[in-house]
Amino acid sequence: MPPKTHARRQAPPRKAPARRTSAPARKRTDPHREWYKFFSEKYQIPVEQLKKEFQDELDGKNPVDAPLEIPDRMEVFFKYSYGKQSRFFRELRMHQQILGSKCPQCRRVYLPPRADCSLCYQPTSWVKLSGKGTVIACTIQHFSTSAFIKKVPFICAYIRLDGTDSLLMTNMEMDDPSRARPGMRVKAEFRKNRYGIITDFYFRPLTGGS
Ligand SMILES: [Zn+2]
Repeated sequence: MPPKTHARRQAPPRKAPARRTSAPARKRTDPHREWYKFFSEKYQIPVEQLKKEFQDELDGKNPVDAPLEIPDRMEVFFKYSYGKQSRFFRELRMHQQILGSKCPQCRRVYLPPRADCSLCYQPTSWVKLSGKGTVIACTIQHFSTSAFIKKVPFICAYIRLDGTDSLLMTNMEMDDPSRARPGMRVKAEFRKNRYGIITDFYFRPLTGGS
């Protein structure tokens, strides 16, 4: 018995130094590494973005009773209905045809089309347009939101198509955008791939400046 007791008393001093030497190495790693890795892989969120948003929480800087927030991602797929403007978009995609809507009472023709006349409140009917028109106002965009940043510089124009009484805000394409001017005659061009959206067509100058 005496030899065993002696062995137990000596064991702790041998293990203690080993713990002290390994502790500094652990401090160099990010204590929240696994937390970041888990959410980054789960939602495809960059770790740097997670650190920016959640560093304080993970470091325990938020009050213990404050609302706890964790990362999440929301994606929404849904069907958007064009309602009574549906035929306008179908004709673009299927027949490369621009339609306006005509009021039976005041005879105004709208483009973009309106299901009912804004002045008479009468239901309108469809009329075919030639696709030719005149630039009423235009500007060159050199700055944009991220959605259009790859397209700058591009021309944004208000165009009145022949036979219509309203203006269509649309894009013009030409080799030298700086030559776009009000009064310029233009014609609609349809894209090879059409999806039933307003950008299925754009405008180019009828003569010169193309
Ligand atoms: Zn009307």
